[in-house]
Formats: sequence, structure tokens, C-alpha cells
Amino acid sequence: MVRTSNPVGVEELEFALTGEAQALAIHTLFSEEGPRTPERGFVGILGSATGLRRRRLFLRRIVPQDPGWVYWDRKGLGFSHRYFSRALDLISTEPSGSGLLVVHSHPGSPSDVWTSPQPSSPDLEHERELLWHQSRALPGAAPVAAGIVGPSGGWRVREYFWRRPRTPAEAASRRFGPRSGVHHDASVVSVVGPGHIDLHFAASAGRSASAAKEVESSVLIWGQEGQERLGRLRVGIVGLGGVGSILAEFAPRLGVGELVLVDYDTVKLENRNRAVGASRRDMGRAKVLYCARVAKSAAVASQFKVLAVIGSVQEESGIRPLLDCDVILNACDDPAGRQVLDHVAYAHMIPVIDGGTTLFVDDGNGRVIGRSQVSGAAPGAPCLECTGVYTREEASMARERPEMRGPNAYLRRLDRGFDSDLPRAPSVISSNGLVASLMLMRLQRIVLGFPPRGRVAQQSYYVEQGELLWGHAAESCKPDCYKPSLVGLGDAHTLPTGVDLNRNRS
Ligand SMILES: [Zn+2]
Ligand SMILES: [Zn+2]
Repeated sequence: MVRTSNPVGVEELEFALTGEAQALAIHTLFSEEGPRTPERGFVGILGSATGLRRRRLFLRRIVPQDPGWVYWDRKGLGFSHRYFSRALDLISTEPSGSGLLVVHSHPGSPSDVWTSPQPSSPDLEHERELLWHQSRALPGAAPVAAGIVGPSGGWRVREYFWRRPRTPAEAASRRFGPRSGVHHDASVVSVVGPGHIDLHFAASAGRSASAAKEVESSVLIWGQEGQERLGRLRVGIVGLGGVGSILAEFAPRLGVGELVLVDYDTVKLENRNRAVGASRRDMGRAKVLYCARVAKSAAVASQFKVLAVIGSVQEESGIRPLLDCDVILNACDDPAGRQVLDHVAYAHMIPVIDGGTTLFVDDGNGRVIGRSQVSGAAPGAPCLECTGVYTREEASMARERPEMRGPNAYLRRLDRGFDSDLPRAPSVISSNGLVASLMLMRLQRIVLGFPPRGRVAQQSYYVEQGELLWGHAAESCKPDCYKPSLVGLGDAHTLPTGVDLNRNRS
């Protein structure tokens, strides 16, 4: 069997599962209550997603098994036909594109450090046969993969691809047999929880870690390992305005190894009071381009990379590059964009950290009121909509009537009608700095386990009182919210993207 690059044409294969699924996998494979066999196994249902460079497989759920469906005999670990039948039944009720993962356990000690288990040669032989048979029972695009889990929770996942026979003769031919396929090893495994993302990189991951003298002060806080983790991290930044331009400078100085910047706007003279890093010469240039330059010169990671995307997250061309990211920072104050990212947080298991400021100046007395706010969305935590960051009505309104965007839009409507320029929300660099810092602290917390510990909810800074307070503390989405059901659907879920009228207005 040949080991070639992924036939889907992407550079990286990754595997992701929720913290909850990880706990259930370990329980199924290693708990004292289970059968006392040298190995155990389960079948899982997979979703998949393809970004620009990364293909990702998601463990959607573990198929429940009855006693005896996974057994141990002289030939080793076996899976009964009834177990696969149940799995295929479940897949038939899932959106198209769902596939199968066959998992078995390897021995070891739970206290071992996370290591990716090494498959034995019978393992490889066996999994190939097994998956070849299952792949023929599934639609063409359905992923099939084999996994091994060690007691420390370490995974090794390998995806298989076979050409589909088009005629009965081809189906019977050895050229389409089990040995005709290709396989690809996942180089990154992510366990995504409500306030934490646990990333594990194989040596082959092709993501570099930094170890420069420049980062000594932060290494004192989170150690070499934490710094390397940041160096391998790929972070998306949406909106390169007042908050985003600060993030584009701070994140690389923190040691983040790779950025994907998305914005369609250009720098204008009236942005200069908050477009951090922009010089007069940058006026008229795309914000992502000057921010990419700032990010490169600020970076401390040894092989820092930045991708600048002139686009909108409300369009396919703007969202696709973000599907390669481990975490997305949203600094764009647009309910329609927020809604797209809210879907991405669940369907693609990419935690989203959202931040912004709303200021109002009272015309009567000149009093300034408002707040800066930082929130997050991730599997296992409430979504941005349930947290109250945006409403569905606001998102639809922003889609249909781009001139109505922004906190002043409603007032403006009464005064001047729709034809005037975009309303300009009051903004100030000091608020932006606060929001950007809070967003990065949340990134530190998610990736490095940096304080604050415990549950992370919405944080708000009230301008009038000068107080920073924790807000909304719901444990999960509201009962009628469908986002928890999207977890791991990947490309099988249609994102609420289309044409961004605002981008196409000028
Ligand atoms: Zn094995
Ligand atoms: Zn929700």
C-alpha cells in the first residue's frame, strides 16, 4: 500500500474531538467495569472538513455497543457485524459526509505522558481490511479511519482512501482491493473543551516551535513547553480595525506561530487614530496587508507565518482559510459575521473569542456610556447567540440592509434614511487596547491553562463605573438552541454564508 499525500489535496490531516468524547473513549476502553480483555474497541461516527491547507476529521459520537459486539479471540480483537450495522444505521440518519472510525486500545499506564500509540503490523493489516469492507457500504465521500488510544489518552489516527469501483468487474478486481488504497496519518490531535483546547503535535506536523531568547520573560510564566505550544498555534483574526490591529501586533509578540488575517476593508485617514501600526503611506491599502507586515516584524516565533485574506467571513472565500485555524479571534462588530463564526465554533470545533466595545454619547449632556465586552464560544460552552452577543434578527438585518449596521444605525435611520454613508460607531484606542488584551488573556487561558481558572463566561468593562465584571454565567446553550447538535459536522453543515452586501457596496 502506498503512502502518498492526501488525495483530497490538502497538506495536513488533523483529528479533533470534544473533551466529553475523550472522557467517554477512555472510559469505554480502560474502565475497570469493562471486559477483562487485553484490548478493547469501539466504533465512532466521523465528520470531516476541508480548509485551504488542512483536512480535519471529527469524532462526532461513539456508537453504543452491546456485550460481545467487540470481542477478543485467538485472532485478536474482533468487531461483530451487528455493531457495524448499528453504526451504519446511525450514519444513515446523519447528514451526508459522515463516516466511520474504528478504534482499539493499546496497553500502558494512565500516568504515562501523552504519546501517540504505535500500530503493530497486524494492526495495519487488520484495519485496512476492515475499513475497506466498511468503505464499500458507505457513500463515496464518507471518511473511514482507524484509531488507537493509549491509557494516557494519546491518539494515533489514520485515514484511508480507496478509488470507488464503477463496474462489477472493477469491484471484483484486485486493482480496487484493500491494498489499492492510500492512507494518511493525522499530525495534530485536538481535544476541545469549553475553556481549554489540548493540542498534540506529531513530529511530522510541520508546525514550528519557537525557542528564542526573545521569549525568556514569558517562558518564566508558562515554560518552554507552553512557548512551543504558542509557536505551533495557528490563530485567525477577523476584523483588522481598532482591536484587530492591536491583536495583529500582540499575538506575534506573545509567540503565536501563525496568523490568518481576514478583512476586506482599506485603511482610511479617519482610522489613523486607532489603526495600530499604520503609517500615512498605508492609507488606501488593504488593512490585512499592512497588519501582515506589522505582524511579521513583531513575531518572536522562529518560523512565523501570516496569511492575509482580503475578504469577508460572510463569504466562502473569507471563511475557508479560517477553517485551518486552531482558535479564531473576532474583532469585527458585525452580527452577520458573528453568526457565521458562532456556527464555525461548533460545526468545526474551533473556539471563537469575541470582543468589542459599544459606546454611546448622549447628545443632550455629552455623557459617555457603554461597555467593552469579551465572550467566547466553544463546544460545551454557550454560543455567542445564547450569551446575548448578537441576535438572529440583528444578523438578518445586517445581511439584508448593510447600511443598518453598527450601534448608531437605528438612530440614524430616524434622522436621515438609508442612503447616507455607513454610520460610524464612536471608538477609542484605549478601549480597543483593553479589549485586545482581554481577548489574548483568554487565548492564553484556552491554550496554556493560564489564569483565570475555573469557568470562563462573558467579561464586561463598564465605562461609566470603570469596573470589570463577569457577566452571563450560563453553563450551556439555551434548550432550544441547535448549535450543540452541530458539533463536529464540519463540511456537512452549511454555514450561513452568501454574499456580503457591505463588501460589495462600493
Ligand atoms: Zn494494536
Ligand atoms: Zn446557543
